[in-house]
Amino acid sequence: MIPLPQVAGKRYGVMGLGRSGRAAAMALRASGAEVLTWDDKAGAAPPGCTMHDFRTGPWPALEAMIWSPGIAFLHRTPHAIAVRAAAQGCPLVSDIDLLADARAGTALVGITGTNGKSTTTSLLAHVLATNGRPAIAGGNIGAAALELPDLGVAGVYVLELSSYQLELTQRAHFSIGIWLNLTPDHLDRHGGLHGYAAAKSRLWRFSAAGDVAIVGTDGPFGAAEAATAAAAGRRVIPISGTHVPENGVGVADGLLTSRISGKCGRIADLSGCPTLPGSHNAENAAAVAAAALCLGLTPAEIANAFASFPGLAHRQERVRSIGHVDYVNDSKATNAESTAKALVCYPRIYWICGGLPKAGGIAPLAKLFSGIASAFLIGEAAPAFAETLETADIRYSLEGDLVTALAAAHRAAQADPLPSTVLLSPACASFDQWPNFEARGDAFREAVMALKETGQ
Ligand code: ADP
Repeated sequence: MIPLPQVAGKRYGVMGLGRSGRAAAMALRASGAEVLTWDDKAGAAPPGCTMHDFRTGPWPALEAMIWSPGIAFLHRTPHAIAVRAAAQGCPLVSDIDLLADARAGTALVGITGTNGKSTTTSLLAHVLATNGRPAIAGGNIGAAALELPDLGVAGVYVLELSSYQLELTQRAHFSIGIWLNLTPDHLDRHGGLHGYAAAKSRLWRFSAAGDVAIVGTDGPFGAAEAATAAAAGRRVIPISGTHVPENGVGVADGLLTSRISGKCGRIADLSGCPTLPGSHNAENAAAVAAAALCLGLTPAEIANAFASFPGLAHRQERVRSIGHVDYVNDSKATNAESTAKALVCYPRIYWICGGLPKAGGIAPLAKLFSGIASAFLIGEAAPAFAETLETADIRYSLEGDLVTALAAAHRAAQADPLPSTVLLSPACASFDQWPNFEARGDAFREAVMALKETGQ
């Protein structure tokens, strides 16, 4: 837990007692602050803290209120407690601000984007730690900001930052910011695309001489974001998963190359990194390489660490190979856009998809269907997906549940003489059958591990 010397003897509010709120309350308490907590869903106050109903109780004098990112405070309607706080002049801040205040002098790398945050965050932390740098990933992945250990001034906190977290972050300074991409998401929460983009641009809010902005330029908003970061005074390093940008870092023909400061240097051959398939991971790898170079690592150190990256669970996670068939868990693909990334990575696919459907279904994927040998449909989306596949003349069967679908896909793939992939990439939310995508992916992994080698 991070000591917070700046809070001793002061009083703070903590709104929301999920993982990050609880960690914030405990860190504040351990550092000698008085802590008043509240969660609309009740629950017990963390040890040493007091529950205080900020909706109806008297408003106490507070230094600040640590607001949990999961609770909407502005859109669609302002949260009653946020309105009261504003009326009392009480700032809403994030746990990231407390970390930044306490660890002034330690490098904070902030990573955001609609997609690829977790992969980029864990890959960068892996590259740094593998090369002996005190570094750890946290924030929106793994440990909450205030659960992280004290790394000292030589350390690097590699922080995954959702738009919800950035929206609340008032003071934190990220000497290296990574902005990967932007596509419409969380529009209700941010009052539209403009609000969503503005939340992400808060990465550059505090910029000092020597700060770096690593900006993905493959998507439609990258160039504008690079200009915003430059206007904030940052050195911009453009990155790409499809080419090597001038003065940037990118991937062409599988080769990750830096042209930072006009000097061309090969970093890694990504074809030797099986846990980073596809041009989306090429973009993530380029971002990580750019940050690692800025932090003083050599190309050889970066390449070696890439080769040992274990990958993340549920994101094109290769679970097992049986004979000429690979079994891949891509349960994190909860929409068609994510599934598109996986469909282009494997030449012959036995595709398990379906779940709780998202608007648009799998129609946008039709141009990627050529690699699909057969589809196995599950969940509520099955009838709609069947219609799309029927129109595209793709073989499919309705399987109902995941284990039945896996058994059918396993039989078909094992009977196919060609090398192939059984891919769970649902293009759907999981909530019709599972509590979350992790539970769905875990169930798939378990069922794959239980398969018999013969395909029966
Ligand atoms: P996040 O943490 O932003 O949700 P993840 O690293 O967990 O991102 O990846 C989630 C999914 O997003 C992956 O399974 C993949 O389908 C897709 N993805 C990953 N990286 C990128 C990227 N750079 N651009 C677009 N899509 C990506």
